[in-house]
Amino acid sequence: MAARPMPYLDDLNSAQREAVERLDGPVLMLAGAGTGKTKALTARIVHLLNTGTARPNEILAVTFTNKAAREMKNRVGRMLGQPAEGMPWLGTFHSICVKLLRRHAELVDLKSNFTILDTDDQLRLLKQLVQAAGIDDKRWPARMLSGIIDDWKNRALTPDKVPAADAGAYNHKGVELYAQYQRRLIELNAVDFGDLLLHMVTIFQAHEDVLAQYQRWFRYILVDEYQDTNVAQYLWLRLLAAGHRNICCVGDDDQSIYGWRGAEVGNILRFEKDFPGAHVVRLEQNYRSTPHILAAASGVIRGNQGRLGKELWTEAEEGEKVRLIGHWDGEEEARWIGEEIDAMQGGTRGMRAYSLDEMAILVRASHQMRAFEDRFLTIGLPYKVIGGPRFYERMEIRDAMAYFRLVVSPEDDLAFERIVNTPKRGLGDKAQQTIQMTARANGVPLVEGARIAVEEGTIKGKGGGALRELIEGLARWRAVAKSELTLGGRRPRSLLGEEYDASFRQDNDDEAVIERDSNELRYDHVELAQIILDESGYTAMWQNDKTPEAPGRLENLKELVNQLDNFENLQGFLEHVSLIMDNEQSEEGAKVSIMTLHAAKGLEFPAVFLPGWEDGLFPSQRSMDESGLKGLEEERRLAYVGITRAEEVCTISFAANRRVFGQWQNALPSRFIDELPEDHVEVLTPPGLYGSGGVASTIDSRVAEANVYNSPGWKRLQARQGERGLSQPKESRNTVIDLTAVASFTTGERVFHQKFGYGAVTGIEGDKVEVDFDKAGTKKVVARFLSAKDD
Ligand code: ATP
Ligand code: MG
Repeated sequence: MAARPMPYLDDLNSAQREAVERLDGPVLMLAGAGTGKTKALTARIVHLLNTGTARPNEILAVTFTNKAAREMKNRVGRMLGQPAEGMPWLGTFHSICVKLLRRHAELVDLKSNFTILDTDDQLRLLKQLVQAAGIDDKRWPARMLSGIIDDWKNRALTPDKVPAADAGAYNHKGVELYAQYQRRLIELNAVDFGDLLLHMVTIFQAHEDVLAQYQRWFRYILVDEYQDTNVAQYLWLRLLAAGHRNICCVGDDDQSIYGWRGAEVGNILRFEKDFPGAHVVRLEQNYRSTPHILAAASGVIRGNQGRLGKELWTEAEEGEKVRLIGHWDGEEEARWIGEEIDAMQGGTRGMRAYSLDEMAILVRASHQMRAFEDRFLTIGLPYKVIGGPRFYERMEIRDAMAYFRLVVSPEDDLAFERIVNTPKRGLGDKAQQTIQMTARANGVPLVEGARIAVEEGTIKGKGGGALRELIEGLARWRAVAKSELTLGGRRPRSLLGEEYDASFRQDNDDEAVIERDSNELRYDHVELAQIILDESGYTAMWQNDKTPEAPGRLENLKELVNQLDNFENLQGFLEHVSLIMDNEQSEEGAKVSIMTLHAAKGLEFPAVFLPGWEDGLFPSQRSMDESGLKGLEEERRLAYVGITRAEEVCTISFAANRRVFGQWQNALPSRFIDELPEDHVEVLTPPGLYGSGGVASTIDSRVAEANVYNSPGWKRLQARQGERGLSQPKESRNTVIDLTAVASFTTGERVFHQKFGYGAVTGIEGDKVEVDFDKAGTKKVVARFLSAKDD
């Protein structure tokens, strides 16, 4: 076939062209962010097709996400100047392996119509095995086992290959249970996610003829984001490429951010060993970002040891410096970013106007999204969350809200159904049917039906006991919520408007006076929310969960509880959520993107916001607590990924306070902020922190001033912005609250509560502390909401 013109080559620099045109033999493109690796990889596919070197079905191209695969397909079509003929083997590792495994299922004793289990199914199955083995799954949660098995699968270890060093896993029963689990999956004609690759590696290793067939079939192999492949993926690729060695991998060791999921940056570093004579292409020109942004990113990543070390340069205009701004708290940060996005849209920041599509907010932890979503919904700023559900649509948030709903409205049957067996209370389908039938027969809501069923003894045993506990809990929480509603004193805030205020007064008028004088001890609704989640066993469910998602879910729950402090009571909060969630997002039109840094890999945006740069959040607390630098270095690579997503404007921010369990905590600016090279950073003036009015004036500012100013990061900021007229705080006190050490109060001790102020401890009962508050009288509060005061 005569080669067609090749305009796509004209867009490439000489190093890229080299990587594109050297079609045969192993090629490694190892280069920093934004140097055009993905672009070159795409051009290489086009070149293979255009020169008639390969047909579409002879090319195996692996991307990290399905979205990236779709984009690459589209680009191939555009570069070819005609719609790309089907590229059946362009996709993620998983999507490609599903197709292959369906063809060869019988080689691992499966049928080709096998089902793929989701994590819930997987866990249920493991639980059955754990129970059958007589293991106490309180001490040895099945979720822990599932994490261990995933890890073995990532390392391509079938049960017979698990090394002796791992024999002690899961109380020495891990390997045996893993073997049982794999057998059970086969019986069920099912696979889990990890199996997709594991089975294919097993098949390739055991069946030379099958492997040989695919080695002939996939004549050219291309892999993007190679630094994030795990061992199983790596072995799979190596087997396929072993014959012709036409493999081209592209990656950046500085962007390896999936170590926690078993990715091995070592894979990229040993490419030359695995494929001797590999042609290594290094790209140094960055086409994405301005020099300031690039210099800032390079400055941060320099802090990592054992890098290959790459210098990047760009011909782009100097542009804006990286903008850095500190805020009073997370809500203020969200408000400012909302305003800034508005201003940038209007082009009133001395920069060009940016459309919403050109702007993105990249967060370290998904719980950070809540503040932005709430704010944007309130001001009507269109946004989309990429790579995950919106905050209030997350499973753990919906579960928690179902508990709250049920406390506020006992007749909320949907909420009851959602949580009656979450966490697991041993209430199977049969028990749930009994509840339904009892409720229907008596014409009462499900909660009441459940109560009757328990009383009448139609639901007995372990499940019955657990159900009774739940019902009693709901009654107890409701009593607290009711007194909170009627005695709360504060009126609902403006979010719900006058209409709500009126109905609030009306509904509660008759009860308000009666109870006002009773000296009943009661909880604040923020505490109540925490109590509900704790006493129902819901928090513990996630604490015992060893899957990688569990810590994030716990953080989301904390954020949910934090958020409650902005409301009068649970009911007000629930209404707020239903109102904002009702605010249907239109499918059309430009939107700001919100996503995690992990989800942003490979993407680029003209303007990027990077909020929450605080120690403990970014870098994460876990990475800071860990011995050794591994975790911290992965966080630093994540910072590098974040900054290098920006083309023209990069805005980093942090807040001096974050709320944890409704309690203010000081946050220190991230250590990564210290690593930003000064010459490339412009410090913006924080609006609320020193100014008059706003949030700052309404909160005890001493709390915020306490620690943040002692940090080296803040001192440097202060020095840099000296003449901007920001004053140094007069005093600085240490009021950081150690959450782990609060339970140890003694009677008579002076304490401080965020809402009730100062008081003296009069009694202690488990984690509840009775305090005689100077102004608010005697109250029982949860210990962790108190801090010791030695004044
Ligand atoms: P990352 O490491 O973040 O995945 P990358 O190395 O894959 O980055 P690309 O996304 O391929 O980089 O390219 C970054 C940007 O630079 C894109 O907008 C791309 O179109 C542009 N670009 C790449 N190569 C060139 C080139 N030779 N001339 C002009 N623009 C280019
Ligand atoms: Mg890329």
